[in-house]
Amino acid sequence: MQRLPHAVSRLRTARLARASKPFRARGGSDVPRCAGCRLVVSHCLCAVRPVVATRAGVCLLMADIEALKPSNTGWLIADVVADTFAFGWARTEVDPALLTLLADPQWQPYVVFPGEFVAAERVVTQVQPQPGKRPLFILLDATWPEARKMFRKSPYLDKLPVLSLASDQISRYKLRRSRRDDHFCTSEVAALCLDLADEPLAAQTLEAYLDVFTHHYLRAKSQLPVQWDGEAHVQLHRLATPG
Ligand SMILES: [Zn+2]
Repeated sequence: MQRLPHAVSRLRTARLARASKPFRARGGSDVPRCAGCRLVVSHCLCAVRPVVATRAGVCLLMADIEALKPSNTGWLIADVVADTFAFGWARTEVDPALLTLLADPQWQPYVVFPGEFVAAERVVTQVQPQPGKRPLFILLDATWPEARKMFRKSPYLDKLPVLSLASDQISRYKLRRSRRDDHFCTSEVAALCLDLADEPLAAQTLEAYLDVFTHHYLRAKSQLPVQWDGEAHVQLHRLATPG
């Protein structure tokens, strides 16, 4: 079944339409890419895109060219989490639809950001379920310097609680995933948030899907075929049925 383009896909299309010159991905070439997953057609991922029900939503605030990068992992979140919203960030203006979303009483918004940069009274490390509300995780999809600027210069975020991922949660994650550095990509942060929202299956599915995406992406880069029976695919298949 053909799905409608998700929020990140629509944002990418809108951003491309505004570009004065064609965007060229670093090291990019003119080989045809799949519109559903952005990968070269020979390495298309769409057949294994997982379906998993989630209560939580994700709101991506994306730095200017983030939606254009073929390696952007906000795209993967939008593939997995049905209620993913995506907005381009600009210092001087805010999309009214974003303000409407943040004011919608069905959502309980959290800005996900490291607590050490924020006044202590705003910081929470747990998702506290509130009756009749669903958690909405606001992720700043950007490089770290851009994310800091976005956080500081978005007054509409100032009154929201800041969800800071606790260091023990991060250590457990790094151990499990054999990660050494502290830099998490956006879909990894979303997975940690889903875990905090008591949605472990969605969290693990998103992690496994990132591994599959990374495999396809790297194999395409080195012009090697996809290993459909490799570890990443087996793990994803174990967790979720493709939709
Ligand atoms: Zn595809």
